[in-house]
Amino acid sequence: MVEASPHHYLIALGSNRRHHRLGSPRQVLDAALLALESDGIDVLAIAPVIETVPIGPSRRRYANGAAIIATPLLPDALLALLKRIEARFGRRRGRRWSARTLDLDIILWSGGSWYAPAPPLIVPHPAYRTRDFVLRPAATIAPNWRDPLTGLSVAQLCHRAARG
Ligand code: ATP
Ligand code: CA
Ligand code: CA
Repeated sequence: MVEASPHHYLIALGSNRRHHRLGSPRQVLDAALLALESDGIDVLAIAPVIETVPIGPSRRRYANGAAIIATPLLPDALLALLKRIEARFGRRRGRRWSARTLDLDIILWSGGSWYAPAPPLIVPHPAYRTRDFVLRPAATIAPNWRDPLTGLSVAQLCHRAARG
């Protein structure tokens, strides 16, 4: 029998720059999910993509999505894989929140919390609890997943974030 991948993750996907070959930010997110699958990640659920107005210096619209994935990888190894995929999509390291082809963040992990100083990795993602553009897609596929720090579900966090 094939053993099921032990780790589940909720990941957030973002793009606000066209890719010369793949097309719009939305199409970049679709291609990123295919890239994850071809790297051996099981994609279990995909949230409908939303478009949001940007935070920070960029004026572009953002396409935001979320997915539940399963993999044998621990958080540090998954982060390394996500960074390799971002790089393949032409992501340039630069100012935070500037225009980028692809941003892949680890939001929640079935194992609870993870902290590593270098390269920095904090799971749950330290900023997701107030980010509507992360929580709205996430709530469509993982409403009952509980945040280990606050004990609140993704659906509850989403309601809170929507109220401001
Ligand atoms: P934010 O993390 O606020 O959404 P960002 O996604 O624009 O900002 P990046 O430039 O993509 O930030 O990432 C900066 C660093 O954040 C990454 O190199 C990574 O080491 C670190 N990091 C820490 N926690 C996480 C996490 N949960 N998921 C992804 N990256 C993380
Ligand atoms: Ca991010
Ligand atoms: Ca990121």
